Formats: sequence, structure tokens, C-alpha cells
Amino acid sequence: MRGSAITAGILFLLLIFVTACTGHDPNRGLSLIKETDHSRFFSPEEHAGDGDAISKLAEAFEANYSRITNFFQYESADKMSIHVYTNKADFQKMIGRDTEGTYVASENIIKVYTPANLTSPEAEALFTDQVVHEFVHAVIQSINPDVGRVKWLDEGIAYYASGQLEKELQMKTVFYDQPTFEQFSSPNYFENAGGRAYFYSGTIIQYIIDQYGIDALNEMIRNPEQKQLERVLNTTINQLFIDWTVYLLKVEQ
Ligand SMILES: [Zn+2]
Repeated sequence: MRGSAITAGILFLLLIFVTACTGHDPNRGLSLIKETDHSRFFSPEEHAGDGDAISKLAEAFEANYSRITNFFQYESADKMSIHVYTNKADFQKMIGRDTEGTYVASENIIKVYTPANLTSPEAEALFTDQVVHEFVHAVIQSINPDVGRVKWLDEGIAYYASGQLEKELQMKTVFYDQPTFEQFSSPNYFENAGGRAYFYSGTIIQYIIDQYGIDALNEMIRNPEQKQLERVLNTTINQLFIDWTVYLLKVEQ
């Protein structure tokens, strides 16, 4: 009798837990401001869609959607939720750190700050690239959430596949600040090096695609543990770093 009462109690608590989990709607309280074939844009500001930014973000998202999903051999039945804040202070308060965009894996939502109007071509490129960059994170972390723990792989792929690396390579011809392997593999490298960390991670990804092909990269995304990466590439991570350094010297010329 006592046992069944405890069982009933546990079942009741489980029911509350499951209801709480499934009942949480991360889009609650936000307005749907734009919907496309593969995305839904939400904002806490009802009129966020009045400026030209949301249409430009949506256009860039759709223009890159098939390219990115095909590249990573990924299919999703659901539309991507994208939360857009046009007030930077509100955005950073909500996120809790100094950033303009992030992918929240636990909710499968892209969250970005974007000014309501993208008046210059530079601003348009910056903020549309940001959404595409976060979408790459969404795709590869949906394939395997562990990718998010290997920072150089996760950020390098996002920087490469968003086209940001290509743009930077067009402007940059000298790589004087290439990190050592110790710096690069340190957990604080991204914090300490800022933009450079993205650039160098992106060039490693470019090197891997050039040298081993996209299928190898896709296998790495699906098996991101160091031993597995070394198996896929048939080399050590240390040797990969050395080979990449030589490759960068060639890119530089
Ligand atoms: Zn990123």
C-alpha cells in the first residue's frame, strides 16, 4: 500500500516535470514579425519589422539556407526560430554578456541584435553575415551538440561556411599574428584573441576541406572527439597544426 502511494507520488511529480518541460514555449511573449519558407522571426518589439533590417536578414537567411544544409548533409522538418532585438542594451541584458549574436542550443534558437534599419552596405553585410554564421552553428550543433565543445571546430566552420573568412581573406594578405599550438588549443584563446581566433579557426577549416574534402569535415562534425578527428584525418592534431601552418604560408603569398 505504502509502496504504491510512493509510486503514485513519483508518477505525479514526473507528470508535473514533463508538463513543465513540454509546456515551455521559448517564443512566448514575442511577436512573430516575419515568416519565410525556412524561418520564423520573432521580436519582443512588435514594430521591429517596420525598418528594412528584418527583410534583409530573412532574404540573406533564405539565400544561404539550401547551400548550408546541403553542405552539411542536414535536413530539418522545423523552421528555424530567430529572435531579433533592435535595442542593443536590451539584447545584452537578456543574453548576459557583451555580444551581438548567439545560437542557444538548449532552445534551438538564434538570437541576434540588429539595428532596425541597415542603412549602409557595411552594416547590411555585417548583420546578415551574423545571422548566417549563427545558422551554421545551429546546423552543426543539431547534427552533434558535442561540436559546440570544440571551439576551433565550431567557430571555424561557422566563420568559413558563412563566407566571412573569404571576405577577410580578400582584405588580409599578411598573417603576422598566427597563434602557436599552445595558444590555439587553450580554452581561453577565443576570449584572448578576439577576431583573430575566428580567422585562424576558419583557415584551418578551409585547409581541411582543401586537403581532405567536405566528406571528411562532415565526419568530423559527427565525431568531434580528438581521437576520432585524428582517425578521420589519419594524422595527429599536432601534425595537422604543423601542416596548416605551412599551408597558411602558401595562402599568404
Ligand atoms: Zn560563432
